[in-house]
Amino acid sequence: MIISQQKPLADILASLGDSNSVFIVGCAKCATVCKSGGEEEVWQMQEALISSGKSVTGSVIIDEACHMLRVGRDLRGRQQLVDDADASLVMACGAGIQSVSAAIPKKTVAGLDSLFLGNIRRFGQFEQKCSLCGECVLSETAGICPVTACPKGLLNGPCGGMDEGRCEIDAEAECAWAQIFTTVRETGRIANLAESVPPKNYSKIPKPGKLKLK
Ligand code: SF4
Ligand code: SF4
Repeated sequence: MIISQQKPLADILASLGDSNSVFIVGCAKCATVCKSGGEEEVWQMQEALISSGKSVTGSVIIDEACHMLRVGRDLRGRQQLVDDADASLVMACGAGIQSVSAAIPKKTVAGLDSLFLGNIRRFGQFEQKCSLCGECVLSETAGICPVTACPKGLLNGPCGGMDEGRCEIDAEAECAWAQIFTTVRETGRIANLAESVPPKNYSKIPKPGKLKLK
């Protein structure tokens, strides 16, 4: 899921500027789990905006704010409330914010910062495991992603800074490459680990990304 967090209210107010009336959009999926743009957070934002002298014409929590057709349909169902607002404030990831900006031809303000694609460790605790690099090497690295878990993103490791299995960038963290070597050694797959991996082919990451299923 996309991990996001709310921008400070002062930043949101600065972006709203002289837009006095606001329609708020939240998301029922990732932003709800992250407690950044679900029903409760949208309600709290509404209260905060009103306390700051703004008026709120209405709000909606869209089932998936990244689903452009759904966003268009849900906003059309609240057309008058949307039209009455000077701006829309979107409490969803960057993809959701752009679904709304494409559907509403007026000022769109980002309420959240999108941080990373995250796994859920437990409620309210998220960890980045994949950086969406476009060419997965997990089959060769014992299921541990060096692109993400190593702060330098090294495909050949460990680097010279590794100290007794700890990372030189973050002493609290285990070195990803030490973990990879330990795992392949324990599972008898050391021969599968290439001596040296060529540089990553970053052209495999389509930007902007597009995929059309056949
Ligand atoms: S190698 Fe790492 S960053 Fe790339 S796709 Fe696999 S898990 Fe994601
Ligand atoms: S110590 Fe390990 S995890 Fe840290 S930067 Fe070097 S190779 Fe990467």
